[in-house]
Amino acid sequence: MGKKHRSPAEPTVTFWGATRTVTGSMHRLDARGQTLLLDCGLFQGRRAESRQRNAEFPFRPRDIDAVILSHAHIDHCGNLPNLVRQGFSGPIYCTPATRALAGVMLGDAAKIQEEDAEYLNRKRARGEPKIEPLYDGRDVYRTLLLFESVPYGKSVKVGRGLDATFSDAGHLLGSAMISLRIEHAGAERCLTFTGDLGRPGLPILRDPEPIPPGDLVISECTYGGHTHEPVDETAERLGEVVRFTAERGGKVLIPAFSVGRTQTIVYFLHQLHNSGRLPDIPIFVDSPMAARATEVFRAHSSCFNEQALQLLEEHPELFGQRFVRYIERQNESVELNHRRHPCVIIAASGMCEAGRILHHLKHNIEDPRTTILVVGFQAPDTLGRRLVEGQPQVRILGRMFSVKAEVVVLNGLSSHADHADLLRSLSPLSASTRAVRLVHGELHRAEALQASLRAIGFTDVAAPDRGDTATV
Ligand SMILES: [Zn+2]
Repeated sequence: MGKKHRSPAEPTVTFWGATRTVTGSMHRLDARGQTLLLDCGLFQGRRAESRQRNAEFPFRPRDIDAVILSHAHIDHCGNLPNLVRQGFSGPIYCTPATRALAGVMLGDAAKIQEEDAEYLNRKRARGEPKIEPLYDGRDVYRTLLLFESVPYGKSVKVGRGLDATFSDAGHLLGSAMISLRIEHAGAERCLTFTGDLGRPGLPILRDPEPIPPGDLVISECTYGGHTHEPVDETAERLGEVVRFTAERGGKVLIPAFSVGRTQTIVYFLHQLHNSGRLPDIPIFVDSPMAARATEVFRAHSSCFNEQALQLLEEHPELFGQRFVRYIERQNESVELNHRRHPCVIIAASGMCEAGRILHHLKHNIEDPRTTILVVGFQAPDTLGRRLVEGQPQVRILGRMFSVKAEVVVLNGLSSHADHADLLRSLSPLSASTRAVRLVHGELHRAEALQASLRAIGFTDVAAPDRGDTATV
């Protein structure tokens, strides 16, 4: 009677978020009897659906041994405090800059969760159960204690027979691609997760490193089938818009998310100013969160590209108060409304659904000298989208306003790889990769990239649905 040989279960990934959509990044790895999560992001969509998706995990949080986090955007890290609240107590591995930025992001997210629950409870009918916030400040604090930072390029043991290495994804300060080596049946399997992949030539950030080879490669595909405008042309146009608006005596209002895009714009404005291509007008960043995020940027200049380091050396006040005024207090924000002279105001939120930008729009949208400069993606049904669509009248904070301001759209500031970037980054892996799974993109984006990848020799390419699995 021969001994029965039991081969260990194959390492497997289950896709639980950002499948055929761009939100809620979360993938589960089962390997050698251990369970890890790659990202644990917030799902953002319609309120009721989002609440349920975020509140209930498709596994028991206490069964997760560790989390590996690609970067600090909220759709990648925003559900971590809830995971902790529901019993997760393992380490969360990420780069040092991601750890610092996540602290800013999660603190802000807790505040929004608490305000959201408060609002829903006020509107709740008698007898309905009280709505709890998804998490609160205490959960965030407990989450941050679990973070373990690992620099780029250094391999770290994340479990028995499991090693992870981060490489620069060039998408956000601290953003990383994750390369996992898994010992399996006396051999080695490799899993690569691109996280969100940046694009070459972005300001401040270094260009993305080559994608590490893997038996299974999980790649983002946000802009499959799409070509971005070049970054430097966009910077030029930004300068033109500010000059033109200042000449006619108007204000430039820029709705922007506080982390990433805001620092990019400030950086461009600083660069334009240094080369004498920007009039001497005040620039305000009207967001306490942006001020804190910018401090993180300044503290992690080791992640900057050459050009940014050089600018920082020549101008140590880069991002600093001498060039830009950061508005923290509400009353100072209100004072901006009474300014008569041209200025630039950058304020959240990026799609104009909430935040201080609404007040600036309310006060300036009926002034034809104003420019509203849209620099990011605008989801359907947001005020930002209505402005881009050129609607003559819009509702802001409960009142209708005529849109007399000029609306300008600058599309070239995306921090995601476009179709050609993705293809160029993935093509060297066609011979070594067994399978590619495309996540973080609408289905038509995934399909566009899938077709091109097959054409250059990748055989097994698919866009998994929620709950689908793949073997490493
Ligand atoms: Zn991102």
